[in-house]
Amino acid sequence: MNIFYYDIAVGLPLRQSFTYKSKVAIKKGTRVVVPFGKKSIVGIVVKKISNPNSLKGLKEIISIADNHTCFDKSIFNTILWASEYYHHPIGEVFFSFMPTLLRKKNDKIISSLSKASEYKLNAKDKRFELTKEQNANLSKLNKIEGFNPSLIYGVTGSGKTEIYLQLAEKFIKKNKSILVLVPEINLIPQLVKRFEDRFSGEIGIYHSRQTPNQRLKVWLKSKFGEIKIVIGTRSSVLMPLKNLGAIIIDEEHDHSYKQAEGFKFSGKDLAIKRAQLENIPIFLGSATPSLQTLKLVKEKKYKKFDLLRRVDGKKPPKLIPLDISDSTLLGGIAIQTMDIIEAAINRGEQVLIFINRRGFAPLYECDNCGWVASCSSCESNLVFHKSKNRLICHKCESVYAVNHNCPDCQSTELNTFGTGTERVEEVLKNTFKKVPIIRMDYDSTRLKGSIEAIYEKANESNEAILVGTQMLSKGHDFPKVTLCVILNADSGLLSPEMNGVEKIAQQLIQVSGRAGRNNNLAQVIIQTRYPNDKNLKQIKTGNYQLVADQCLKTNKALGIPPYSNVSILRATSPNPQSCIQFLEKVSELLDNKKNISITGPLPSIPLKIKGNSRNHLIIKSDTKTYLNRVLKFLTNEIQNWPETKKVKWAYDIDPYDMS
Ligand code: ADP
Ligand code: ZN
Ligand code: ZN
Repeated sequence: MNIFYYDIAVGLPLRQSFTYKSKVAIKKGTRVVVPFGKKSIVGIVVKKISNPNSLKGLKEIISIADNHTCFDKSIFNTILWASEYYHHPIGEVFFSFMPTLLRKKNDKIISSLSKASEYKLNAKDKRFELTKEQNANLSKLNKIEGFNPSLIYGVTGSGKTEIYLQLAEKFIKKNKSILVLVPEINLIPQLVKRFEDRFSGEIGIYHSRQTPNQRLKVWLKSKFGEIKIVIGTRSSVLMPLKNLGAIIIDEEHDHSYKQAEGFKFSGKDLAIKRAQLENIPIFLGSATPSLQTLKLVKEKKYKKFDLLRRVDGKKPPKLIPLDISDSTLLGGIAIQTMDIIEAAINRGEQVLIFINRRGFAPLYECDNCGWVASCSSCESNLVFHKSKNRLICHKCESVYAVNHNCPDCQSTELNTFGTGTERVEEVLKNTFKKVPIIRMDYDSTRLKGSIEAIYEKANESNEAILVGTQMLSKGHDFPKVTLCVILNADSGLLSPEMNGVEKIAQQLIQVSGRAGRNNNLAQVIIQTRYPNDKNLKQIKTGNYQLVADQCLKTNKALGIPPYSNVSILRATSPNPQSCIQFLEKVSELLDNKKNISITGPLPSIPLKIKGNSRNHLIIKSDTKTYLNRVLKFLTNEIQNWPETKKVKWAYDIDPYDMS
């Protein structure tokens, strides 16, 4: 009798896979049940082994879970690539891209559900006659075949979404499927609506706030060709869509494509890899593309398609820095700004106020002795949330009661300091008593349906004021907004972060894109104490390409990303000394490596989260492949160090910020 041997990856934080034997042949990417310790668990077949090193103690695969593979070839290979590129345990990478219900033992769950949806164009939907610019670009985009990344660089309102729809139409007509990624769950409903208006068939939705059952259904329907269009967040990048024609990445510059915890992958980079392996076109859209993408355009690796005019012919809003050095502020709003807001309200228009901080006030302190409320397990000040009458740690979400006596000096003179969305909302409610004030931030959008309710309210109202965090600045249409106010641009302009200018330019230009859809006179007021800042002067032209070109030049001169490759090695431990000792040892090990530069150990920001101290090394190199090799070497070395019993360590490959 034939015996086969397979390496199996299991969903545990283990870097290696395990060899098992089987009496039958099994395809790569299939789910199997294997004995593991005293339990039996689900694993994925990674490869066939012809001659195992040793046959001793090899256990047998208990059962094959499904009649179909879980991961087909290109997705399977994308996962192998990701595990290597991010130096992340293979099993965890596989399991990240399986619906939760497939991670548990269950038989024959991978099977078709219903019959295929039919995708016809809805007669009711107005398929616009394209503008000249849209037309010229679409006809070029339609000719693209095979792996060929394209940047659709289109200012807000230039009709990018219409281009996505017509591209999708082309693939659907060829009986292919299409995957559309957006950076945040909030952006899904609006886009799904446009696709549903256009196509008769089912539009699959996939994101982390769905129930396990909902996600499994969409996954299965994709796999068996029952749906052909899926719109989702980064976790849907490897949807098993049958006969995939193309991938669209909307708002490609957005940092939310990167997963911040656990398996720290970039959904965008994985999508690009998948497109490459499937040899299909990928379309990246943005009004403020990332430096990385623009660099690849310059190097002629990506093609760029410009949409520089709005379809409605309206001019982009003016960006106006407003010097507030000598102004009195009320909830962060200068008196002069308040007059401008009032004038807009009196004209029956809507105003959008952007502040990058949620809660009522970022500080709760004692006026007598200077004590500041801070989290007991993080190095982070507590934010006062008036609506909940609680102090909340934004790092670990711990909730504290509000004390009325200073714990240090017993004084009752405790006060809030600084401004968040709730305070702005309160000040506006007191100033404009009859005007709807709509707040949009993490706290006001947690309940299901709350985002839809916010849009509805904005849509129904005439004059109104929207107050929100960056959530407000992303991709949404608020057609009645004619004035945007940016309250604390200075924290971004003066940020010491890597690529801080790129970030604030994207943010300001994205916010300004929310204004003026219906008005030629729209304005964006940027409150600042540094009206002569040289970056601000460039940003205020509204010409993002200009700012980006400048950033690219600077970064090239400084040798920072995208002109170098960076990884962070972060160590966490309850004992601060352990982190530092571990990282020092790593640093010594890499000391003699050529073409690698090491900075650190540095204290991470914040230095402590949930009781764990955090430190990191910045590892930099000119070439990606070389850096990757060094990290592979490093991983092999440190795995066996006794120090790793005291610290947790992880890489952040291509980090968005280095703190
Ligand atoms: P973007 O995604 O670039 O911000 P959209 O595709 O959302 O732009 O287009 C902005 C608005 O213009 C939408 O309401 C859309 O329906 C409309 N639109 C798009 N293309 C055209 C066109 N060719 N003619 C008229 N209206 C259009
Ligand atoms: Zn005190
Ligand atoms: Zn905390």
